[in-house]
Amino acid sequence: MSYLVLARKWRPNCFADVVGQEHVLKALINGLDQDRLHHAFLFSGTRGVGKTTLARIFAKSLNCEQGVSSTPCGKCQSCLEVDAGRFVDLIEVDAASRTKVDDTRELLDNVQYAPSRGRYKVYLIDEVHMLSTSSFNALLKTLEEPPPHVKFLFATTDPQKLPVTILSRCLQFNLRRLDISQISGHLCHILQTDNIAYEEDAILAIAKAADGSMRDALSLLDQAISHGAGHVSYADITGMLGTVSQQQLDDLVTALIEHNTADILAQSSRFAEQGRDFVALLDDLMLLLQRIATVQMVPELLLTETDSPLLTHFAQQLSPDMTQLFYQIALHGKRDLPYAADPRSGFEMTLLRMLSFQLAPVDVTAIDAPLAAASPSKPDNVTSTTSSAKKAPTTSAPEPVSAPIVNPTKTTDTVQTDSPKPIEPPQELGSTLTHDNWLDTINGLKLTALARQLADNSAFVQFEQGKITLSISPELAHLASPKPIERLTAVLSKHLNQDVKLQFQENAAGESATLATERAEQAVIDQEQAKQAIANDPAVEALKNAFDARVIDNTIKPVK
Ligand SMILES: [Zn+2]
Repeated sequence: MSYLVLARKWRPNCFADVVGQEHVLKALINGLDQDRLHHAFLFSGTRGVGKTTLARIFAKSLNCEQGVSSTPCGKCQSCLEVDAGRFVDLIEVDAASRTKVDDTRELLDNVQYAPSRGRYKVYLIDEVHMLSTSSFNALLKTLEEPPPHVKFLFATTDPQKLPVTILSRCLQFNLRRLDISQISGHLCHILQTDNIAYEEDAILAIAKAADGSMRDALSLLDQAISHGAGHVSYADITGMLGTVSQQQLDDLVTALIEHNTADILAQSSRFAEQGRDFVALLDDLMLLLQRIATVQMVPELLLTETDSPLLTHFAQQLSPDMTQLFYQIALHGKRDLPYAADPRSGFEMTLLRMLSFQLAPVDVTAIDAPLAAASPSKPDNVTSTTSSAKKAPTTSAPEPVSAPIVNPTKTTDTVQTDSPKPIEPPQELGSTLTHDNWLDTINGLKLTALARQLADNSAFVQFEQGKITLSISPELAHLASPKPIERLTAVLSKHLNQDVKLQFQENAAGESATLATERAEQAVIDQEQAKQAIANDPAVEALKNAFDARVIDNTIKPVK
């Protein structure tokens, strides 16, 4: 039995099967059905987004023996020949290999002759921007007075390089890169049809790596199927792509936040053992930091399926300044990686540099008594940093700065404290849900990003006979969509050790406690305490005196 690669087996045979590119499809379908077709189309777009596929379906639509329409029969001789790639009136040319004017002449000399089998001759010229100037001139003559039986489809990855005279005679379409959900949706459909087991995370990882190209996604999937002997698993994919898993990336950021140097070096050693690509690793780290920064700026941002489940948590743990700094260090680290002695040492230096900017944990016994007394419930020794203090941490050598700014952004706490919520869930929670344990329970659950948003914004109403009733404010009701509800139901059922159902009702905002409102209230309290601590901090006082500095209130941030 011969094996047909997925990209060929699943090449769409009709417009209805094409994934994405709706704007182009609509124009082509309308033109075909109303028999009002332009004679030249220009498709721009990167590789693997469907240019050749569209051209083939288009050629079939024009030449189907049943008549011109957007739904060719797929059964007649013409349709079958196009599908098999041997229809004489579909002329495919790769301009990258035929750039000479003689080649173009030879091609265009035949344009005037009627099609041999079908109604129309369809010319598909790929990478058309590669043609020489004289080739373009030859082509332009034909485009100015095209014979009625000819249609041109030009494809290019670089439309800027085309002469304006050609551009102005074409109907232009920009084929878009496919997004992750379009690619993953198609891959899942294929795997389900072919009865191949897969893990959803694995498909998302492939869709991400394909970078907008369905063809690349399908060949990665081909590899993955043979790699995993018929089963597509996340571990296999990350191994195959040399990428790290979301969990590994989350562990790395957690270690950075916790200033855990030993753990970072241990993780780096594991990455090296597993043959991970350190450039890709820095890319993934930057993407995660970019998402963290985005959530910090736009807290109401809706999280996606590809987001880390800990994204919101990271956004709260890391200060925005530090997020920006880490991103910058990662970017420079990636740039300098080729100059490092080896990729691993370059990667480790990048992470160590991040740590050197992150304030180290401070021993609680070193805290001055007045400061500790100032905030008895929160022994967070609030440390202030200034932009100049970062470079010169002592105040003994004042620089001639006219208006220095005290910008206390960072406080540290490894210190025993009762205020932060534990990251890890308590292992044993009650086997029932009540008003009293609702917040602790959901805080301890491991949830995907969307389910987490839903849980955090839901208030407990009652739990009776396996049915949990929750309330959510009307403006957040969109969070209660089927998928997150399904996830939350599954996790709660597991936690409560029984099959439960979730029911949502609308509620006035703030009527009952939700984790989100509780956090917001706690944030106000924390902020006030941090302000107090800064106001009473002798180090800040010294800086004020030495530099004639002032504290900018809205830059004070409490540390969790
Ligand atoms: Zn047909």
